[in-house]
Amino acid sequence: MESSTHFSKNELACKCCGNAKMEDGFMERLEELRVRFGKGMRLSSAFRCSEHNSEVSKTGKRGPHTTGRAVDVLTRGKDAHRLIELATQLGFTGIGIKQNGSHEKRFLHLDDLQEAEGRPRPWVWSY
Ligand SMILES: [Zn+2]
Repeated sequence: MESSTHFSKNELACKCCGNAKMEDGFMERLEELRVRFGKGMRLSSAFRCSEHNSEVSKTGKRGPHTTGRAVDVLTRGKDAHRLIELATQLGFTGIGIKQNGSHEKRFLHLDDLQEAEGRPRPWVWSY
């Protein structure tokens, strides 16, 4: 799925190659989150190809973003708190929290990966 009701291909696409191979089930979950949240969600990252992911993430060539099952939402404060609550209810299993540093760059990582070797889920981490 390359776009959905509330998210354009442009914001879902890999920053380096423009591919937007988002997983269908993840996008349904993300759309439901957006609807329950009731206002705009700005994504700083969604799909990443393996090459791009290995440049920007410690997860290397196989991180959650490379499977189309992760987004980073630019948010903070009350909105971030609300999104964590809703995301947990909706079955997002990976929640990464970046809430220090400049306000404009604060975000939440959300994914819905299953538990695997070396990847416990559900899980919360900070950056
Ligand atoms: Zn790419």
